[in-house]
Amino acid sequence: MLDEKILVDMDEIVSLCKRRGFIFQSSEIYGGIGGSWDYGPFGVELKRNIKNLWWRDIVQRRDDMVGLDAAILMHPRVWEASGHIESFTDPLVDCKSCKRRFRADQVQDGICPECGGELTESRLFNLMLKTFLGPVEDDASLTYLRPETAQGMFVNFANILEVSRKKLPFGMAQIGKSFRNEITPRNFTFRTREFEQMEIEFFVKPGTDEEWHQRWVQERFDWYLRYGMRRERLRLRQHQGKELAHYAKATYDIEYLFPFGWAELEGISNRTDFDLRQHSAQSGRELSYFDEETNTHVVPYIIEPSGGIDRAALAFLVDAYDEERVLKRKRVVLRFHPELAPVKAAVFPLLRNRPELVALAKDIASELREDMMAIYDDTASIGRLYRRQDEIGTPFCITVDVESLDDHAVTVRDRDSMEQVRVPIPEVKDTLLERLGKTC
Ligand code: ATP
Repeated sequence: MLDEKILVDMDEIVSLCKRRGFIFQSSEIYGGIGGSWDYGPFGVELKRNIKNLWWRDIVQRRDDMVGLDAAILMHPRVWEASGHIESFTDPLVDCKSCKRRFRADQVQDGICPECGGELTESRLFNLMLKTFLGPVEDDASLTYLRPETAQGMFVNFANILEVSRKKLPFGMAQIGKSFRNEITPRNFTFRTREFEQMEIEFFVKPGTDEEWHQRWVQERFDWYLRYGMRRERLRLRQHQGKELAHYAKATYDIEYLFPFGWAELEGISNRTDFDLRQHSAQSGRELSYFDEETNTHVVPYIIEPSGGIDRAALAFLVDAYDEERVLKRKRVVLRFHPELAPVKAAVFPLLRNRPELVALAKDIASELREDMMAIYDDTASIGRLYRRQDEIGTPFCITVDVESLDDHAVTVRDRDSMEQVRVPIPEVKDTLLERLGKTC
């Protein structure tokens, strides 16, 4: 059984994100817009850390992967070939009384979950956001904001093969924005209309696809564990029957136990040779690989681990959230893995009216900033400054006090244990770097 205490309420997370500057509603001063969110100073750092770690682990540290940054706007025929125009739909129902719309698979018994009214029959609704290129808004200029980054990688297969000289198996990796006109954006940043994806298309010889599929499922599952996600809040779920997409032979979802229940963080699909065959047939370009061992052309199978950065950020936030009682007061702390923490160190003067302490604290912060995200703060009492940093998840707080002027040492406080140790100023940076891991 789960410890109820550690499964935070979603409202707590939303309010902390706003209060501390992780996430704001988009266009809030105009009343907001559904399914769009803005990342504030700490949210953007969290997202950057997730993206950087993914890129480091997937591209930089692997010999069988190359990166790509394809355009959001693509030729409309891409979406015909991919099947998105025909099949990228959700079943939509309307409430006859309150006129609200829902995804048919998210309501029960034909009854409106908001007002109890009767629902219409379901009809299919295409999730792609339309746009027009150029000044004339007609069918000839119609295209779409990409609903996934994947297609940019499939259509570049021949280019990448030629320039990278990679042999099968090899992969492409891409991070970028995608757009879906979700019928019911909900659960904060979990389901939005604009979001970021981190996707891998891994090309393998047919016949080795099932083994590679299993390897990638394991690899991606372990990745979330590596950055501190609690094992008991992660699970794998295999797609069954009709749930399986039209291109997929098999799909596993990595699910996280959010406060609103188990939900998908990342999907890992065996897409077979569907995509390359489709694009080859529609474009008339050969999209195959010459296998020197067998002297034949093969159309590679594709294993696709496809994750959302916004969902990962939300899961890491929920997972890091912790509350405890310290001296009869509630302490809220985000126990982020050090490599994910938006800010690594915060430096304070014990007395903000002592210019020598302020100057020394500012010097230490600026020295640390060369190598990590570090901030200086003197806008409250030390107790409040600590609490503020705990809520942001900053692993270390450094306090400069009067004694520091004599002993050239400062107090370093650990976020998790709240232990304080005295560290000589010249050793502060190396001490922190060692305890934070390699990348800051
Ligand atoms: P869902 O079933 O939740 O709608 P999906 O199966 O359609 O998701 P995929 O097409 O597999 O999602 O997309 C890959 C990843 O992109 C998802 O695992 C998720 O992390 C992210 N993603 C997809 N749609 C959204 C969205 N509307 N908002 C935020 N992230 C999304």
